[in-house]
Formats: sequence, structure tokens, C-alpha cells
Amino acid sequence: MTGPVRREPSLRPAKSPWADDPEIPRFSYLTLRATDGWTGLNPVPPRPPIHRKVSTVRSMMKRLSLGVCISTSMALLGCGGEMMDADAMADMALPEEAVGTTASAVETASDFRFRTANRYAGIHGYAAGYGNFHEANYGAGVVRGTILLKPGTVAHYLAVPRSSLGNTALSNIPELFRRAQDYGNAHGLGIALPSFEQGLNGSVVEYGVHFLHPSVVEFRDVPGWAIGYPDVTDAGAMMRAASDYASSNGFAGGLPTFHSAIYSGTRVYGMHLIRPGYADSRDVLADVLAMQDRFSSDTATVTGDNWARTLRRHEAAQDSIQTCTHLTTLEKSALRSAYRKAIRHTGTNEAGINARAELGGDDVWINFGVLFPQGDTEIAQTLIHEMMHIAGYSHPDRRNGIDTPYDGGPYYNSAPLRAELCIAGFQSIHSTRESSREPQTR
Ligand SMILES: [Zn+2]
Repeated sequence: MTGPVRREPSLRPAKSPWADDPEIPRFSYLTLRATDGWTGLNPVPPRPPIHRKVSTVRSMMKRLSLGVCISTSMALLGCGGEMMDADAMADMALPEEAVGTTASAVETASDFRFRTANRYAGIHGYAAGYGNFHEANYGAGVVRGTILLKPGTVAHYLAVPRSSLGNTALSNIPELFRRAQDYGNAHGLGIALPSFEQGLNGSVVEYGVHFLHPSVVEFRDVPGWAIGYPDVTDAGAMMRAASDYASSNGFAGGLPTFHSAIYSGTRVYGMHLIRPGYADSRDVLADVLAMQDRFSSDTATVTGDNWARTLRRHEAAQDSIQTCTHLTTLEKSALRSAYRKAIRHTGTNEAGINARAELGGDDVWINFGVLFPQGDTEIAQTLIHEMMHIAGYSHPDRRNGIDTPYDGGPYYNSAPLRAELCIAGFQSIHSTRESSREPQTR
């Protein structure tokens, strides 16, 4: 067996004019928008980074510590890929019910994994993200390997006309990667990472494409024998092969170019390998990723920052379900089902309440001005409480001066109130969560 000797011609994309220009700072942040007219057939591309403080080991990771991934350093070195070794379980073989998403054709599509991972990256302050197509269940629900590119790694995020990308369908992952890189080469933009978002600019369909600064990645022609000769038309197999190769060679992530050729009798695959330190790897609940697509907000009453925080607190609530000892198995199941609904969120200024929800429905109203200053714990408690109403659980009105936390009475022992205990082990004593009318809304 021979070593991975580079044979020309390489599959390296044509060099962009400033690929190795020392004058260009490594982390120059050259974000440009091709147009301001992005209206979005799908929701908008990720917002700019909200803040940089990100915990690489979240509560879910701690709960998973009986597995392999127990240290922060491993998380940085691609723990997800190591944990979800293809040898340990058959990737992509899980029925969708076991995966924890709905059976929707949209959500079983591969491009959905790119899109939801990228949106997840956006609400956590990362520049971009993608799924590495590994998944596993360590007992707390199915998680998917998610690679999160740090701020500064994306040189441009552009809305590129679909016609400039060969009118390629979003679902054709290999071809869209190739076309996007061709476009990047032609315009000197860097390393293409499609976001798999689309929008309408007038009547022109545009696709969102990240272009990573070339210094973020190392290009290699990887010999097929090193990665098991994956089928170039199989996006999942190619993504896993790139991820596994990257992990075992000390990189933070890998992206196939989806080009393959035979040089001197050896099949090689083009790969962009993300250098260490430029990306984090995180195992994210499949339901939390899908939520990035299912949940929506009323843009007239919910600001971008408030929406991102709402999704992060919904994530904390979902992370708490599995290990919570205050809900029955049936209640947990109903709560998970509620989280798989398409929930609409609207802001409200209604006096005297933190939030309200439609009993058994799909609408949540949030009093951002009242609730959000109360902090992350209270927000997550309120959201999980409202999601219990979405799941169909009600409670009697709280009786002033009679009902008190932990009294085991009809109010504080109701399912929505017990759900609050999942978050921080205590119940909120705030009396302003809801008006007495709620949850009889509709
Ligand atoms: Zn309630």
C-alpha cells in the first residue's frame, strides 16, 4: 500500500486571486450580501453572530458522559465523529420515528440536515454550520453530529442566483457543492459551503452560499483506500467519509469537493479539511435541529435577538426532558410530540402574563418585555410550561394565598408546573406567568 502521494493534476479548485495573499488578515471579516432583496422562500439565512460565549459542553453532553465524549478538548477535536463511529452503529439506518423527527418528506431530505445545522449555528453565534451526517442515540434521544464554524471563518455569505449554479436542485447536494465551488473560483470568493437556503429576489431564485476564507481549510487529494471508496453521488456517505478522515487526521471537520478522479491507477477524492481551532463539533438532538425549521416567529412582534434566545431556551427545555424525574413517561412523550409541531410564536404586551399558549394547539404568545429580563431559567421554565399546554395539559387557576410551590396541590402539582422542575429543580414563584383566562384560550 502506498502513501497518499499527490499526483497532478490535483483536484484542488482553481486558486482564488488572494488565496495565499499574506496581505489578507486571516480573520478579515468581509461579509457581503449580494442583494438586500432577500425575501426568502424558506426562512432567512442565519443572522449575524449574536454573541460569542458558547459552552462546548452542555447539559446534554454531561448526561452523555458515560459515553466517550467527556472532555471539552474532545468536543473541539471532533468528538461527534469519534462517538458516532460508523462501525458502532449503522448510520442513517434508523427509522425516522427513532430518529425523533416527523415523517415529513422535507425533514428526511438530506439538504434539511445542512439547512437546520446552519440555522442552529446562527442562533449560537457561529458563522456557519453543517451536519456531518453521523447520528447516534446514547439514551437521551437521537443526536446528530454538527460542525460549527467559528466567527471570522466565513469571508462572504452570498445570495447566488440559482441560474448561476446550473439551476441545480437544492436536494442535489453533490452537484450544488461542485457548482457553488465553480462559482467561488470564478469570482475569487473562497471555499464554498452552501447553506441550502433559498430566497426570491424579485423573480430570481437565489441560493445562500458561504465562502470560507481559504486559510481556514487545507485541500487534499485523499486516496480512496483511506476512506473506503465512497460513492460520490451519495452525499451522506461522502460527508461521513470526509468527517471521519478529518477527525482521524486532526482536523476540525471535512467537506468533500464531490470531485473524484483516478490518477496513476489510484482513485482520489478532493477534500477541504477545516484546520483545528476553526470549528467546534457538537452532538445536537435531532429534534432541536428540526425545530430550527419547524418553529416560526411573527417578525412584526419578535425581534431577531429575541427569536434566537427563544430557540436557545426551547433547546434547553428539550435537553432537560430525558433526565427529568418530575414528569411521567407518558407526559414526556406528549411533550416531545408537542416539540415536533410547527409552533408559531408571537409577541404580546398583555398585562400580567409572561406567556400564554393554545391548549392542544400550535400557538405561543410571549411577553418579551416582561419575561426576558427575568433571565434564562425563567424563560426556559415558562417555555416548557407553555409547551405542556401545547401538549394538551392544563391546570386550575392559581389561588392567591393558598397555592404555594411544592404544596402537592392541584395547581403546583399539575403537569405544566411539574415540567418547570425539569429546568432547574425548582418551580417559579412568579405570579405573572399567565392570566387567569389561560390556558382556556380556544
Ligand atoms: Zn399555564
